[in-house]
Amino acid sequence: MPMRRMTRQRRAVMEVLKSTRSHPDAAWIYQEVKKRVPSISLGTVYRTLDALVKEGKVIALHTGGATRYDAFTHPHAHLVCTACGRVEDLELELPHLLEKAQAQNPAVRLDAVRLTFEGLCADCAQNRLEG
Ligand SMILES: [Zn+2]
Ligand SMILES: [Zn+2]
Repeated sequence: MPMRRMTRQRRAVMEVLKSTRSHPDAAWIYQEVKKRVPSISLGTVYRTLDALVKEGKVIALHTGGATRYDAFTHPHAHLVCTACGRVEDLELELPHLLEKAQAQNPAVRLDAVRLTFEGLCADCAQNRLEG
């Protein structure tokens, strides 16, 4: 595949992912990228996402169902809503958690902390109160 085409597809995937905070799956990303690059295939979207994850530019979230993707790679935690399945960003300070864990487990090499909570998103929590 010519390099220029690859770069364009890659940029489109990145732009689509940065345009949302909904932590979409590959199928949704594919639908959105197709609007910009109609010739792109689902396989290319998967391969592009794979490469971006390996390079640390995108986080892959394994939430039980489909893998979801997040282009915001600053340290943050997630809430998976057990009622509607939505994945939201959570404000949470995690000072030095990685360094502490590394110090206590010197034989392994820790690269990142991924913290996922389960519960109800704001909408579902509100519905629960009203219902
Ligand atoms: Zn919810
Ligand atoms: Zn996130």
